[in-house]
Amino acid sequence: MVNLIPTSEVVMQMLQRTGAFREGHFVHPSGKHSPHYFQMPLAFRYYDTARVLAVALSRKFRLDKDIASQLPKVAVISPSSGGIPVAFGVREALSAEQIYWAEREDGKRMFRQYINQGEIQPVIIVDDIIRSGSAIEETVKLVQELGAKVIGCGTIVHFDSAPTTIADVPIQSLVEFNAKWYATGEECVECNKSVPEERVRF
Ligand SMILES: [Zn+2]
Repeated sequence: MVNLIPTSEVVMQMLQRTGAFREGHFVHPSGKHSPHYFQMPLAFRYYDTARVLAVALSRKFRLDKDIASQLPKVAVISPSSGGIPVAFGVREALSAEQIYWAEREDGKRMFRQYINQGEIQPVIIVDDIIRSGSAIEETVKLVQELGAKVIGCGTIVHFDSAPTTIADVPIQSLVEFNAKWYATGEECVECNKSVPEERVRF
């Protein structure tokens, strides 16, 4: 089963082909510069690509004995709208019973669904990309406040600057990405090479 998970090179090719990963010279709304840009929803607009990526991630969870033994009484949870297609795809592949997603409202992350204490089954948190890990951390806190236990966590792309474990579980990923960020243009390699810059919205 392990060899049915595409390599990170293959996943990166899929992201590149769909426009979800680009290389160049990007200036982000935060003012930071980087030579790479991820816009994951561009990959998830193609149903077949979305399915391949979600199924691949689900296989990593199937290999975890603790998770496999608790299925199907498991909840798959996305920290934000970007992770919703991943959550649906992973839920489908694992036949997990529940699905939830959180959104930010007035600066606070919360579940759109009304959830009572004890209603959430053991949780797998999934996202499309983990850059800093803060969205995952906030979601873990929400889940734990509702009395649920986190048994798994995973993402399609994981920046190597983000934590590798959360709530005592390893963060699974299909791609471990060496992210390069420059706080200012003076530090930016591409600025110094006079590569034309592109300002991005997200
Ligand atoms: Zn720059």
